[in-house]
Amino acid sequence: MTDNELKQIKLFALEELEKLYSSATVSLWFKPMRVVAVDVSCITVSLPENRKAFVESSYYNVLQEVYSRVIGCDIELRLITDEEEAEMSREFTEVVDSAYKMRFNPEYTFENFVVGKSNQLAQSASLAVANHPAELNNPLFLYGPSGLGKTHLLFSIVNEIRKNHPNFNILYVTGEEFTNELIESLSLKKPMAFREKYRNVDVLLVDDIQFIAGKMSVQEEFFHTFDTLFKMNKQIILASDCAPKDINNLEDRLKSRFVMGLVADIQPPDLELRVAIFKRKAIDFNYDMDLDVLYYLAKNITTNIRQIEGALKKLKAHTLITGENCDVYVAKKVLNEFFANENSKESVIERVFSFAEKRYGVKREEIVGHRRSSDIISARHYAIYLIRHTTNLSQTSIAKLFNKKDHTTVINSISFIEKKMDNEPAFAREIESAIAELRS
Ligand code: ADP
Ligand code: MG
Repeated sequence: MTDNELKQIKLFALEELEKLYSSATVSLWFKPMRVVAVDVSCITVSLPENRKAFVESSYYNVLQEVYSRVIGCDIELRLITDEEEAEMSREFTEVVDSAYKMRFNPEYTFENFVVGKSNQLAQSASLAVANHPAELNNPLFLYGPSGLGKTHLLFSIVNEIRKNHPNFNILYVTGEEFTNELIESLSLKKPMAFREKYRNVDVLLVDDIQFIAGKMSVQEEFFHTFDTLFKMNKQIILASDCAPKDINNLEDRLKSRFVMGLVADIQPPDLELRVAIFKRKAIDFNYDMDLDVLYYLAKNITTNIRQIEGALKKLKAHTLITGENCDVYVAKKVLNEFFANENSKESVIERVFSFAEKRYGVKREEIVGHRRSSDIISARHYAIYLIRHTTNLSQTSIAKLFNKKDHTTVINSISFIEKKMDNEPAFAREIESAIAELRS
């Protein structure tokens, strides 16, 4: 219920009370009361502490009757003091605030986003949108592989707009959350509440939008959400792991809307940018590091910036525990295991892709891409099967490696290869020897 509606209830109640009591009584006891909340069964009213005991003992029944009449059904009356009310709303703001902080990580800002050639367009477009929401670049569409800063930029936009427009209604969700909420609202038969939530925002950010692809009713709903907001001149910002045209099973009308504003990609960072980002991370982490250690890290962590956080934590813990000064030698020693783990997986995976390329003549980019010609599909099944049998990666991680939304692709590939092995002994022998070679 809005503040105005609560005030209205108070005014109607006062009118009723004025019919029953003298104006002196009404101003002394009833005027200071405030309606603070109404739900299906209970109305909560606050009043000054020094009035509460008397009102409760003398007027409780009358008040309950009056409020029930105003609201139109029997309702329980709860009287609290103004102090209790203040306490309650403070707690409520804290809850909202901490939920907000978890959601909109305040540590992700433009200030600590390091810019280089590979992410410059995405960063400047995001900054422009943050400074001029719905004036330029609507929608803004960011895309690029995992771990290169898309979510960081979305949160930076949120934090910046929130600073300049504290009254803006900003909504950040992932494609997966949008999907789950929609399904839930349909099963509870509350599609209106869902629409009200999504169509009354000033800024809508949907992270990992590729998730809605292939799901008809979700795409349909998102299409209408998009159109409604767009027509009302509200800012829409989307992020995805690939360009709109490459999102498999995404409706054409969505693809064409996603490219109406500005599409900006993020490419893997070069060595120089990685050094700069890691330097920044080390500062944020309160960890002082020599330049040659930074270079060592930047040479070894190349594809996913997220890995730097794990590496830094490990290094910092080591220096704290042993008191050893961290030079390249120590860094190598400590990170050996970290990288061995990552790299051995990496090198098996590299080899699988080169096996697949030799056998099917299809390059890794194609295999993990979204095209579906028959040789690409065969190479994809083959590579997925081999990786599943030579690494300890989960089906979900393998799906990610192949830029697939969920592990059904992995399951399909495995059963496809198993069937083929059953029917073609030569193929089975070939697969078995490939696995043996990869494991050696
Ligand atoms: P994505 O959403 O693209 O998968 P994230 O935004 O989650 O990637 O980024 C992964 C990690 O890398 C985050 O900790 C983020 O702060 C960091 N990161 C990525 N790019 C940069 C950058 N240019 N400057 C600073 N940190 C970055
Ligand atoms: Mg992300």
